Amino acid sequence: MNEKRKQRKKKKRPTAGEPYPVTRAVTHIRLVEVNPGKLAALDALAPVYLALCQAYVTLFCTTESPNKLRDPLYQTPLSERWHRVAIMQAAGIARSWRSNRTTAYQQYQDDLARHQKHQAHGQLSAHAKEPQWRAWNVPTLREPCIQANVNVVKLEESRDSTYDYWLTISTLEKGQPIQVPVKLAVYHKAALTDPKTHRGKKLNSSVRLNQRDGVWWLTLSYDEEVTQETVAGAPVVGIDVGIANFVTTSTGKQYGSFHKNLRARHKRDRAKRRRKAKLRACLQKKGVKYLPSTSSRTGQRLIRHVKHEINHAVHQCFAEPEHQGVQFAYEALSVASMRFKARAQNAYLRASHLGHIPQQIAWNSQKRGVKATPVISAYSSQECSVCHYTDHKNRPDQRTFRCQVCGFEAHADYNASVNLSRRVGDRQLRACRDRSAIKAVLMQRHETWKQQQGMGNTSPVKRRKRGESSAAVSSI
Ligand SMILES: [Zn+2]
Repeated sequence: MNEKRKQRKKKKRPTAGEPYPVTRAVTHIRLVEVNPGKLAALDALAPVYLALCQAYVTLFCTTESPNKLRDPLYQTPLSERWHRVAIMQAAGIARSWRSNRTTAYQQYQDDLARHQKHQAHGQLSAHAKEPQWRAWNVPTLREPCIQANVNVVKLEESRDSTYDYWLTISTLEKGQPIQVPVKLAVYHKAALTDPKTHRGKKLNSSVRLNQRDGVWWLTLSYDEEVTQETVAGAPVVGIDVGIANFVTTSTGKQYGSFHKNLRARHKRDRAKRRRKAKLRACLQKKGVKYLPSTSSRTGQRLIRHVKHEINHAVHQCFAEPEHQGVQFAYEALSVASMRFKARAQNAYLRASHLGHIPQQIAWNSQKRGVKATPVISAYSSQECSVCHYTDHKNRPDQRTFRCQVCGFEAHADYNASVNLSRRVGDRQLRACRDRSAIKAVLMQRHETWKQQQGMGNTSPVKRRKRGESSAAVSSI
């Protein structure tokens, strides 16, 4: 509880005009090998570190609660300092895994309660299944990623002009650190130079080292003060998140998509994993001890690619000339709403990494000093943005919104983004305890709309034909 309260405090959103710190990373700095074999000591350290870190991740995810200052438990050839770094990193990984699992479990219990309520009232549809809880696997660390502090990796500015920095990395051999030069690319240098003073920015002492396909990469970071520039009462742009279109705004713009080649790649990857799983099962039957993993390198690459596409889409949305000086409202995605968005295609949902989108929106708003508010997303895709009539029948298919009452017709994502844009500061909705209360509020608004239209108590009329609706907002 205490931990939770602390986290909430940390996540408090900045207020206008007040500067807040943001940690920015400079990634993809390739470690150059000046003479062959120089990085061999680091290559030797990586698997040992990875195994130790994994041991603590498993410990912190199963028997103990994450404690980054825990006393060393396992035997390792690594130095005590490295050991502490591994414990700290493992505690961080386990903490976020645990909090994600808690959220999912809560969601499951809510779903179950709703299911049982419907069952008791005999409102269950024929094909409704009872929600099932599936145990989560403990995270598996695949590729070496070392979150190092100054106790094990020291970063120093280079004195000669050939290189920019030197890394002093302690190794498995006591008192035998290696010195690795760091050469920055022009764009790295630009990112690390203050545009006003033309001086280098002060770097944080902790660095990250990644090994991918045998190559070592360095990530540096620095702290920056950002001030929120959004003025009070700035127009709100709603953002709807989805698979077909990663980002749809209430200004009628769409950015990024999981469809096209990402979908094809995902299908290929899935087929490959299925084949591997079959092979695994076959080998297991025969009593083979070491089974091949079902995760693939192409699969990992696909995940990176999807996330990259999402980053690009969100960046475009924030950089859009039309979106300067506005504030954003985006949906606080829950597992339930994600499930709804993806319908029966769960594998597809996982592959699309929808959850990465709100994270990116939050990060972009933070680093740019633009206000972005997560809002309640319940029924945002079923509510009519003209008359508030809320019904799943308003969605004849995944991409179409067609109001059963007023006949308003639009792209479903666009209609949802307009709804979201209006939910900033909507106290009445925020006070609702559950989804049924939210639906009641929306339907009450629909009644008010009907009174204003002088429609009185008419039942939903049969939908009008396309283009007939007079109340329709200009289509996108
Ligand atoms: Zn309507």
